[in-house]
Amino acid sequence: MDAIVVLGHFCESHGPCVILCTQKCKKEPLQTPHSLTVPWCESCQSVELDLALVSKNEKCCYVTTRTPLQQDLAFLLKQAIVRSLSCEEESSKEGGTLYFGDNERGHIISHTFSLQDSLARGFHRKYSISMLMRDKIHLLNLWPTIIPPIKQIAYELQEKAAKINGAEQVQCSQRAVRQAQGSPGHQARSLPQLTGEPAIYAHLHMWFTWILSYERFIEKPPNVPNIPIQCSPNDLRNYLKEMEDYVFRVACYCVFTGMLLQCNDETVLTTFRQLVPTHFKIPQTGPPVKLIKENLWRIEWNGVLPNKLPTLQVEVEEALRNEKLTDETLKPHLISLILHWLNVAKSLSWTPNPDQNLFQALGINKHDLPLLAYWTSNCE
Ligand SMILES: [Zn+2]
Repeated sequence: MDAIVVLGHFCESHGPCVILCTQKCKKEPLQTPHSLTVPWCESCQSVELDLALVSKNEKCCYVTTRTPLQQDLAFLLKQAIVRSLSCEEESSKEGGTLYFGDNERGHIISHTFSLQDSLARGFHRKYSISMLMRDKIHLLNLWPTIIPPIKQIAYELQEKAAKINGAEQVQCSQRAVRQAQGSPGHQARSLPQLTGEPAIYAHLHMWFTWILSYERFIEKPPNVPNIPIQCSPNDLRNYLKEMEDYVFRVACYCVFTGMLLQCNDETVLTTFRQLVPTHFKIPQTGPPVKLIKENLWRIEWNGVLPNKLPTLQVEVEEALRNEKLTDETLKPHLISLILHWLNVAKSLSWTPNPDQNLFQALGINKHDLPLLAYWTSNCE
């Protein structure tokens, strides 16, 4: 559910009620909202029930109606307004802004305020503008963006109502009349009457649309370092299939431990070098290990593979063989494995005298040392 902005008020006859709501829709509504089942009076009324105010752009439209377009939302909005105007009410006289809600009934930010009305009980009427959303974090992130305009809307309505009220007092002080008579004499008045603005609901529609269309901000920490790993596992998987296990393992072992690997085909080397971070120095010295393709792949090397290969190499090979991992999922998985060992190597290179405890804490075993010797030298 996208956000909904709703105007509610406290009717002296009917209690808290929704009088207007604006929501974002993909298309213009074909049907007018359902009928209103609750009793209402002049002050509970806003746009006609079968009327919708619509603003469109290329992507979507914003629809303002008396009741929400979806029946189930009517109940949620009603509850939000009840809570904003009664139980959750902010006690200060100018009204106030608060958050309430839960995952079942939705999360709400609400601003409550009152408008002067000489005919109302206590000479003012209570209103609230609320935004309802399913996602709590998203809603609370919007707080600094949506509260200032909502407060501004409330302030402008208050200014208009105060002006109308002031003019009424000059003509005839209702307060004095009523205090003299001692009779309540409440009379329901609508928002256009209170503000002297016949098109007030169209204005509210524009304001609410603006709030809903406000570009959602994205939180991005500044200066995010690039991940120094580039890996397209597709080619690696192909070599794993083409080569004998031994050949593939020796090639990987060379790259992981910083031995000089040679091959006539540079793209093969590039593919294997994806297994180490991009900024690692490619070894230029030492006895070369030759990867040769004739009919089959073969390797020329005088050394022997250790009984236990480095943990990272084992993990990478397992991942490449795991057919349940698609290329799309394999890529981030390999990157995270490599990144983990890069961090291990960094931690080691920053520690002057690493001891057994640190090795244990970092999950380093004896068979990881040939790899880490090369990796830490690239981290200093
Ligand atoms: Zn009413």
